[in-house]
Amino acid sequence: MGRIIAWNKGAESIFGYSAEEVVGRPISLLVPPARLSEESDILERLRKGDRVDRFETVRMAKDGRMIDVSLTISPIKDAEGTIVGASKIARDITQQKKSDQMVRQAQEELRLYAEELEKKVLERTARLQESLAELEAFSYTISHDLRAPLRAIQGLAQVVLEDYGEKLGPHGGDLLSRIVESGNRLHKLIEAVLSYSRLGRDQIELKPVLLEKIVAQVIEEYPNIKEAKAGIKIDSPLLPVRAHEPLLVQCLSNLLGNAVKFVAPGTAPDVRLWTERKSAEVRLWVEDHGIGIAPDEQRKLFTLFSRVGDPRQYEGSGVGLAIVQRGVSRMGGTVGVESEMGKGSRFWIQLAAAEEPTPSRASATG
Ligand code: ADP
Repeated sequence: MGRIIAWNKGAESIFGYSAEEVVGRPISLLVPPARLSEESDILERLRKGDRVDRFETVRMAKDGRMIDVSLTISPIKDAEGTIVGASKIARDITQQKKSDQMVRQAQEELRLYAEELEKKVLERTARLQESLAELEAFSYTISHDLRAPLRAIQGLAQVVLEDYGEKLGPHGGDLLSRIVESGNRLHKLIEAVLSYSRLGRDQIELKPVLLEKIVAQVIEEYPNIKEAKAGIKIDSPLLPVRAHEPLLVQCLSNLLGNAVKFVAPGTAPDVRLWTERKSAEVRLWVEDHGIGIAPDEQRKLFTLFSRVGDPRQYEGSGVGLAIVQRGVSRMGGTVGVESEMGKGSRFWIQLAAAEEPTPSRASATG
């Protein structure tokens, strides 16, 4: 085992021995007994002329404290190249080890915290979904149960209006007519809420649907849309999509219904429909030249009961676009809108295409 032949101030401050105390004593003075074999390995490597670079180990101070050190040891050769000793530089890495340990601990705490957080988010999301489902079931039941008494109110008011209208006088008749009208509005709202709820429950199956046929059917079947038929232009052909037909009919009737409804008073609807291929999907555009929607209001349109602008001016319930959004998303598609106040709006729905894209015709040769 080697002996210590020189000892500088750095070594003094790490190990606590002065030069007088250690010079001439064996290097093993600094080695914890359990690590004595390390020194003979190091000496062996030095004898072969190797250098030991940044070897992390533990050494012992004068007061018996264990110190984490990084050792760099190089052989010292005489003029003939014979190894006559070794220079050993020890760096105290206790602090570095401590900070490494603290970083590892902090990372571990962070990991546990993130795990905990993720668990909480999942639990809360599940609870939220449960409450949402309960709320929907509740609103479905209420809307459903409201139908019978409402039907009675409407029917009876109608009978009173027909049989006793004259006796009521003009003011009484007017009041009763308003009761009937309000009943009709409530009926429409209840039906809309029920359709919206059903969208989340019913099983759906996606099949190729001829969009052009469905659009024509919607225009014919919905009186409010049929009334504006002359103002609706279709850029044929409309590309077929993969959809659930009844759902698609519902979505289209709402989009077209809005396109012909939201026009300035006294203006005839002017609506155009076309499709656009978007790789594996087809986007259907419904463009109108109606009143338009302010930019900051466009985001909320698709949420339930949201009506923008002046709701008193146009009849509605604020459920239509929520139905479009939910219906299209159940069919795996997306919806969107572009609009400018006073100029008009373009709503779009995008669904999977029912056909492979038509390959561009190759230039024929031969
Ligand atoms: P409703 O038509 O029953 O009011 P919707 O959910 O269909 O409900 O539409 C929500 C709101 O979005 C409407 O009240 C209207 O303010 C606005 N909106 C929808 N479509 C159009 C459109 N084509 N042009 C202008 N505003 C529209």
